[in-house]
Amino acid sequence: MQDSPRLFIDSATIAPLAEGTTLDLAPGHARYLGTVLRLGPEAPVRIFNERDGEWSGVLTAIRKDRGTLRVTHQTRMPMATTGPILVFAPLKRDATDLVIRMGTELGVSRFMPVTTARTNTHRVNTTRWHAIAVEAAEQCERLDVPVIDELRALSAVVSAWPSAGTLYAAVERHRVATPTARQRQVGGGDGLLIGPEGGFSPEETQWLLTQDRIEALSLGTLILRADTAACAGLAYLTLHRES
Ligand code: SAM
Repeated sequence: MQDSPRLFIDSATIAPLAEGTTLDLAPGHARYLGTVLRLGPEAPVRIFNERDGEWSGVLTAIRKDRGTLRVTHQTRMPMATTGPILVFAPLKRDATDLVIRMGTELGVSRFMPVTTARTNTHRVNTTRWHAIAVEAAEQCERLDVPVIDELRALSAVVSAWPSAGTLYAAVERHRVATPTARQRQVGGGDGLLIGPEGGFSPEETQWLLTQDRIEALSLGTLILRADTAACAGLAYLTLHRES
């Protein structure tokens, strides 16, 4: 049996959820439930956000781009995702979209886009990226949506990296002993750094490898596309998570 649809409702737009609350649906949600899924009154729906956790409810009315939902009971307590921070150079549109979607599914807590020597694009559409992250969070059953930062310089992000965390820099053709699960447990303050399509410049690589909070990470002997490298690196760090 398929689970009921799951919708993210920004906590800033509603009062804290409680049994019996009636919510007006946003036009996009009403269209999705009524027109796309063809649901009618009494259909079960789940709603969630980082403040309220996840709640079940039933549709009480649905018409074109309007609808209401009665909240019935809480199904999950709030819990923040404590996965790694992804520091990455924006890529071509489709590749960045993929990184945001897969990164959200792989538990990224925060996306930090950076400019590097060979960054191809400085286009950062945080509104679009947030919408992609919301869809991915709805699908993968997260209770929160990752934070998306504005574009910053790589050097500024690396220099300000908190002392409690490590930034794993994915560097190709660099012979490093990748830390194993036994050597290192990856925590919420840790991050993964991925270069642009053209890679880091030699000077940048040299600088990165001398920084205190940076640890080089090899993703194997093959050269991966930047979006593939982001997903492979996140999968690796996710498997080595604390708890
Ligand atoms: N243009 C570069 C070249 O051919 O030498 C390759 C850059 S690669 C397409 C883009 C980014 O993915 C790199 O900056 C690095 O962060 C990451 N990456 C790709 N393959 C990797 C590997 N085998 N190990 C670690 N990082 C890798």
